[in-house]
Amino acid sequence: MQRSISILGATGSVGASTLDLIGRERDKWRIAALTANGNVTELARLAREFQPEVVVLANEAHLPELREALAGCDVEVAAGANALAEAASRPVDLTIAAIVGCAGLAPTMAAIEQGGTVALANKEALVSAGDVMIAAVARHGATLLPIDSEHNAIFQCLAGNQLSQVRTITLTASGGPFRGWSLERLEAATPQQAVRHPNWDMGAKISVDSATMMNKGLELIEAHHLFPVRLDQLDIIVHPQSVVHSMVEYRDGSTLAQLGPSDMRVPIASALAWPQRMDTPCKPLNLAQIGQLTFEELDEVRFPATRLARQAAEAGGAIPAVLNAANEVAVAAFLAGQIAFTRIAAHVEEVLSCYAPANPLCLADILAVDEEARKMARGLTESA
Ligand code: NDP
Repeated sequence: MQRSISILGATGSVGASTLDLIGRERDKWRIAALTANGNVTELARLAREFQPEVVVLANEAHLPELREALAGCDVEVAAGANALAEAASRPVDLTIAAIVGCAGLAPTMAAIEQGGTVALANKEALVSAGDVMIAAVARHGATLLPIDSEHNAIFQCLAGNQLSQVRTITLTASGGPFRGWSLERLEAATPQQAVRHPNWDMGAKISVDSATMMNKGLELIEAHHLFPVRLDQLDIIVHPQSVVHSMVEYRDGSTLAQLGPSDMRVPIASALAWPQRMDTPCKPLNLAQIGQLTFEELDEVRFPATRLARQAAEAGGAIPAVLNAANEVAVAAFLAGQIAFTRIAAHVEEVLSCYAPANPLCLADILAVDEEARKMARGLTESA
């Protein structure tokens, strides 16, 4: 029987990995919606190849171009925030939430409100919305499957066990492209160097987050919501080979780890087939060839982002949304050559210092906090 799927962020790196797997089992899937921001060429190509019911661009300015590119095709074409939310709310068996940044929050919430299964890559949405998103999942009877590789690993290690039996959950971090760099070298790091991740091929924003280690900070907050253990039960360890994707230690001293190649198609496949398994074309892990797996402590002097994220998680309320918004603005400014690499975490810390915790009660509250924190962060980057 065919299953239906929508892919929010279809033109991105996670979107491409998902569609690669779908394309190999094309007859098993009916594609409802594919969405992008402004990449008309790629979205039109995907529309022709996968024949979804609807394609949506978040950026309305490109709508005429998309209509022209798909003239004569039997596919609905739409654009704008409302169209994106409407497409995300069409009932499907599985939604892949793979938009980058808090821009993915409203459409992800629209999918959750349908009570279906949402496979979440868009960590910024959960970091910002936290309790509000988790409450919506419970209220609407939705299922959230993590496809971020670490959280997917933890999800697999927890299968058949109870959270109450867990001693610690350890997220592994590759350490990014600047792992061994001195503070002086980090000052001069360029966007080109930052997006060149040693193990993973990903979009620009998450690549910079991996370089600053904010990615691991966001993942700590993500893990706190997905697997509600105390914050002091969540650890991070640097593991440069990215073979062990995360670990769960139980109270009896047993540690379960999930290992696999550094290829997002593995965790995505686990969500596509869940609770079954499916074949992937990924190269099998060859541990003899890899030889050694190594582990190191975090260095929060050179990479303060994980400390900031932990503090934001401890503060709770709207503070993680502020952390995320400030980080998105600072990363964009770094990629545009406006601020130095080491200023990313410094800007986030400055914005955070202006906020007192408040409890956002709904999506609108979170989007308001996000907008306000962005304004403040932009003010800082423009005066840098
Ligand atoms: P990419 O930058 O490669 O792709 C982002 C996608 O989101 C594109 O389809 C893009 O459209 C769309 N998009 C961008 N801005 C907006 C917007 N304002 N409104 C609507 N859509 C938008 O990102 P990745 O695939 O690397 O990452 C996606 C998410 O998954 C992120 O949250 C990331 O942290 C997470 N993730 C990614 C991993 C990876 O390996 N890449 C691993 C684990 C998690 P367009 O192409 O038109 O710009």
